[in-house]
Amino acid sequence: MSRPAIDLHTHSTASDGTLSPAELVLAAADAGLDVVAITDHDTTAGWDAAVRALPPGLTLIRGAEISCRWHGIEPAVPLHLLAYLFDPDHPELVTELARVRLAREVRGERIVELLRADGVDISWPEIMAAAGGGTVGRPHIAAALIRAGLVATTTEAFGADWLGERYRLPKEDVDVFRAVELIRAAGGVPVFAHPRATRRGRIVPDELIVELAAAGLAGLEADHEDHSPAEAAHVRALAAELGLLVTGSSDFHGTHKTVRLGAHTTAPEAYERIVAAASGVTGVASG
Ligand code: AMP
Ligand code: FE
Ligand code: FE
Ligand code: ZN
Repeated sequence: MSRPAIDLHTHSTASDGTLSPAELVLAAADAGLDVVAITDHDTTAGWDAAVRALPPGLTLIRGAEISCRWHGIEPAVPLHLLAYLFDPDHPELVTELARVRLAREVRGERIVELLRADGVDISWPEIMAAAGGGTVGRPHIAAALIRAGLVATTTEAFGADWLGERYRLPKEDVDVFRAVELIRAAGGVPVFAHPRATRRGRIVPDELIVELAAAGLAGLEADHEDHSPAEAAHVRALAAELGLLVTGSSDFHGTHKTVRLGAHTTAPEAYERIVAAASGVTGVASG
């Protein structure tokens, strides 16, 4: 029997993906995946719909991608932690995620105000409506810029003239050490998403990853489209040194990105370690 195909990082319309949670799990099965994780930004809102729509033979890992910040240097560095199989009702985690989602809305509206002050005719209420209740982010503003005919692609909207620099504002994220602590307290398993992706912006030093490993970080995402082969190799070596598990994932966002489901995958051994370490939601959901 061939090894199962496991993709542990995908987004739905519960955040900045373009497929609904139900469409996402059906697309995952069509793509030939055996295991898929739903990891929307700062929310578990897509979990139930994804479980309900699970097709036979597909296993769902319930997760989230948490917006974090490291305050060890000035200005603080944003980073993403994937959290798997945590208790979605853990009170402090619920509070923290709600706070981050609200901070995203405050920041999004301010970005739109800056754009409008420069004569760009896009509307925040329209962007919120298009997000349909999902966690809002810059990709939703990018979509409005595309609808207005100002840029052709999401990639162009993330360029320096637009959301990548000129109209980029920080958001209030979760302190990364607090996030690791909260994910563990909720029975979840924290994995550092695309830790070495220099093309996305500033990255954190390896010394921080050493500290996070001591604080309870379980793994590092190595294979990801934003890592060069050298960056992925560096992450793998660091993980081996620290005894951390290694994942690979598509970070699928539907049409907000060009990457396909299953473009990168995780070895069954690493997946088993995640499942064994989790105690938040009971077991994994299978269709
Ligand atoms: P935000 O969470 O609002 O800061 O926006 C970051 C999100 O935008 C990421 O999760 C990606 O989905 C997306 N993103 C970041 N950089 C790019 C890029 N260069 N092209 C397309 N999407 C991007
Ligand atoms: Fe995203
Ligand atoms: Fe991310
Ligand atoms: Zn992601």
